[in-house]
Amino acid sequence: MVAVSQSPYWIKTTDPFAPSCSGGIPQKMDVIVVGGGLTGISAAYHLSRAGRQVMVLEAFDVGSGASGRNGGQVLNGWPLDMREIRERYGNDTAQVLWHFSDEALSRFVQIASGEAIVCDLQQVGHLDGAWAESDVLRLKEEQRILAELGKKTE
Ligand SMILES: Cc1cc2nc3c(=O)[nH]c(=O)nc-3n(C[C@H](O)[C@H](O)[C@H](O)COP(=O)(O)OP(=O)(O)OC[C@H]3O[C@@H](n4cnc5c(N)ncnc54)[C@H](O)[C@@H]3O)c2cc1C
Repeated sequence: MVAVSQSPYWIKTTDPFAPSCSGGIPQKMDVIVVGGGLTGISAAYHLSRAGRQVMVLEAFDVGSGASGRNGGQVLNGWPLDMREIRERYGNDTAQVLWHFSDEALSRFVQIASGEAIVCDLQQVGHLDGAWAESDVLRLKEEQRILAELGKKTE
């Protein structure tokens, strides 16, 4: 029988997060962010870098939601293929979205290195597998569209 752990790997393998606000909630802040996942922490990080006083309110622990339970893969692109995005929203929007995701990825790498975040970041590309014959055609089409967007794939 295989033992299955219920607690996330990321949380088990890091030091516990220490909240900085032990003396109660301050009466005044520029911004209060609700939720200490990637979305909230990222908003708080950028706002505080822009000089705002920010507080994050987290119901449980920072990273206790999806952000502390995910696969840890940082990829560019979107949950939809670029082919589908182009079909739905047109070429111009697809281009903007692609560059937006590419920029987010670069920014992630910059922040990890600038803040000296020890996360064993490896930029090794990723594999998109074909499950069925139809996926091969889909991937070939995706490859063609990515090439038009300036992305080299094999
Ligand atoms: C199994 C799995 C694998 C994944 N793999 C990947 C991957 O490899 N790569 C990738 O990029 N993405 C992956 N994702 C998606 C990614 O994890 C999520 O898109 C991302 O974590 C969402 O972040 P979030 O901050 O919006 O949400 P969450 O991380 O869920 O954060 C929301 C936080 O808000 C808190 N909260 C909610 N309501 C309140 C309230 N009223 N008051 C105070 N706090 C509150 C919650 O406790 C929680 O901590 C995966 C997701 C899952 C579930």
